[in-house]
Amino acid sequence: MAGKQRKPDPEPCPKCGQSDSVVPILYGCPTREAETAAERGEVSLGGCVVGDVDPTYACHRCDISFGFQRPELAGAEEARRGWIEHREGREQFTDEEAQPADP
Ligand SMILES: [Zn+2]
Repeated sequence: MAGKQRKPDPEPCPKCGQSDSVVPILYGCPTREAETAAERGEVSLGGCVVGDVDPTYACHRCDISFGFQRPELAGAEEARRGWIEHREGREQFTDEEAQPADP
């Protein structure tokens, strides 16, 4: 119903059920354009190193990532509920994060 829409709505957040705070996560080394978009809160950057569960979207409101491409690599709790809480581990997207988290 909105007048201008650049892209299809992302999936609604599994936690709050809204899609207005949901942004796609970009993987790969960010371009200047991607960094600017991230500063504006339009996207979330996954970083140069792609690994782990590779969630597709992030919700700024809940501070979570969801839409796992490889849910089998998520922790048991994350896989069951379907999202990762960022506040539980801010530095989750590092290249050291190859091992599964403790339950
Ligand atoms: Zn949310």
